[in-house]
Amino acid sequence: MLDNLTEKFDSIFKKLRGHGRLTEENIKEALREVRLVLLEADVNFKVVKDFVEAVRERAVGQDVLKSLTPAQQVIKVVRDELGRLMGEGEDNRLDFGGRPPVAVMLCGLQGAGKTTSCGKLALKLRRDKRNPLLVPADVYRPAAIDQLKTVGRQLDIPVYDSQPDQDPVAICEAARRFAELNGYDTLILDTAGRLHIDATLMGELVRIKESLAPKEILLVADAMTGQDAVNVAASFDEQLSLTGVILTKLDGDARGGAALSIRAVTGKPIKLVGLGEKMDALEVFHPDRMAQRILGMGDVLSLIEKAEAAISRDDAAAMEQRLRKEGFTLETFRDQMQSIKKMGSLDSMLKLIPGVGKALKQAQGSQLPDKEMNKIEAIINSMTPEERRNHKLINGSRRVRIANGSGTKVQDVNQLLKRFTEAQKVMKKMQQLGPKGLKGLMGR
Ligand code: GDP
Repeated sequence: MLDNLTEKFDSIFKKLRGHGRLTEENIKEALREVRLVLLEADVNFKVVKDFVEAVRERAVGQDVLKSLTPAQQVIKVVRDELGRLMGEGEDNRLDFGGRPPVAVMLCGLQGAGKTTSCGKLALKLRRDKRNPLLVPADVYRPAAIDQLKTVGRQLDIPVYDSQPDQDPVAICEAARRFAELNGYDTLILDTAGRLHIDATLMGELVRIKESLAPKEILLVADAMTGQDAVNVAASFDEQLSLTGVILTKLDGDARGGAALSIRAVTGKPIKLVGLGEKMDALEVFHPDRMAQRILGMGDVLSLIEKAEAAISRDDAAAMEQRLRKEGFTLETFRDQMQSIKKMGSLDSMLKLIPGVGKALKQAQGSQLPDKEMNKIEAIINSMTPEERRNHKLINGSRRVRIANGSGTKVQDVNQLLKRFTEAQKVMKKMQQLGPKGLKGLMGR
């Protein structure tokens, strides 16, 4: 995510640190580079101007220059101002206050990711113990209604049964009555999109707004479109008074212009971000964490949250039990690895750890962790259950068979077994420490 930006900031800061003592001229030089980097990332020029000015004012202050770690201080100022730019400290939580059913209206141009985001949001709300009803109100794009119905089926979340010949406002009103009667507390309205903003569409969205009085009117904007996303947000906001933005496709190679400018240009916060095509790839937006990520400082809080969401306490307890009963075998090792994989791609997770993103890039030649994990899994899967439970059975000819079965080389199998025996020794030591030591290892 925004890797390009991270790399460029890194080289600016490296130069800054290299100076030891900083002069005002050093800082100004760095700020000229920051300005260029932001403009290249397609950040709105006025936003860039204000940003650089704010950093300059704070960074050339005598306190910074006199401090023992001036470069560090300047970086901290940049971090703070980036966070502020994206709305750090402001409340960007979704508002579900009032009598249910509460309506959340998603709008935006075609292809921005509206329908996908409706599904993702429904899933998120259900995980937060709400009871959402999806409402397809796009009667123009052929198959839009079917698309949402398919998403609903996939997630096992109910979808109101709209038909393409109905009026969108009538659909939303009927869906509200349906929700009242059937105990749904949140309506998620998937409205029509167009390729460009047009008056008819806006008129329709305004009518839906007036009739349903949604608590949240969220623009779904595509981060890949940079400044265009910002302009679209401004137009929608003018007509509809948005309550916030869902910024999608931040997982791709978006340059950052939309993420960094939308809040500053429209005054409306980014509330959620889309980080992939999968239904669980929607996250609450945290400006402070995003600023840290952009500056390559990692995002440990998000990592912990992901771990907590993916590995429930029950799973962890069950794994602990198994480890105690069966010991640390290739089989329990593989299953542990699978629960880590549930958290998402290992590469993207590692990037959340401070400094690791950069290290990964530099570790040329070595396999990427995800590939490595897949290889290990393939090797273990090619073993028989007996071999998995007792790796000492795996002699030379068995190694050849396993390598052939998993499409790897005998050296790979040897290496895995070597690493595994080392890990097993560590586990034995931990087990000698008793359940407390084991618990520590499981992170609970
Ligand atoms: P709509 O026309 O606004 O309803 O857009 P769709 O929901 O149909 O999405 C358009 C395309 O964008 C689909 O291929 C989605 O899978 C993809 N998409 C949506 N959100 C994201 C995201 O956060 N990341 C990525 N990589 N793709 C996304």
